[in-house]
Amino acid sequence: MEHDEVAKQLLAIASQLEALASQLAESIDTEAAFPVSMWAKVDQGICLICDEPILPIEKSMRGAHNRCYKQMRDKINEKKTTDEKQVKLGRLLPGKKGGRKPSKTALKVESLIREDAAQYEETKAAPKKSAKKSPPG
Ligand SMILES: [Zn+2]
Repeated sequence: MEHDEVAKQLLAIASQLEALASQLAESIDTEAAFPVSMWAKVDQGICLICDEPILPIEKSMRGAHNRCYKQMRDKINEKKTTDEKQVKLGRLLPGKKGGRKPSKTALKVESLIREDAAQYEETKAAPKKSAKKSPPG
């Protein structure tokens, strides 16, 4: 077989794989489409529901204050909204569904995220001499 021919076939396979990957991503998205843009808030430790910072002493659930999450939970329980809808709106981080075992890949990603978070906490914990940032607004 000519080298060109091999290269062409490889490219064809690569584009097929890309198509499959995007299909897979879409199917995952429909399950829990948390907006990518909202991760910035999560990174900054800002409550997704009330937009106030979540202080280190405060408990948080799925990217929101515990109290905010509980209020949201009540609304969901009263069928005023749905969990999925709030995830799509970026007001709740995707929750873990019971009974479904995470894949090895998911576990690996989660452990990487945890390592990342631990490093982030370390850098945050490092003493800073600069003045505190005042909240925007
Ligand atoms: Zn809140």
